[in-house]
Amino acid sequence: MGMFDTIKDKIYCPYCGKLSEENEYQTKDLSCSLDGWTISDIIQFVQPNIVNKITIYNECSNCKKWIEIVLDIKRNVKHFMGKK
Ligand SMILES: [Zn+2]
Repeated sequence: MGMFDTIKDKIYCPYCGKLSEENEYQTKDLSCSLDGWTISDIIQFVQPNIVNKITIYNECSNCKKWIEIVLDIKRNVKHFMGKK
């Protein structure tokens, strides 16, 4: 029902290369009130056997493109999704 967590991190937009000003990304893949966590926190503390992958998203404050990032907890990598 519209619940999500807010992830705070600095991510360079894969489209325009600028650092997103808001630095806030949302995810619905965590439901444990992890508001304000960074990507490093998630990769460090989320158990890979509980959650494998987390999708976070936001709109770029510069180019307004939709940025979607999949965090692969097990392999400790970020994948930008949807880049053409
Ligand atoms: Zn951008």
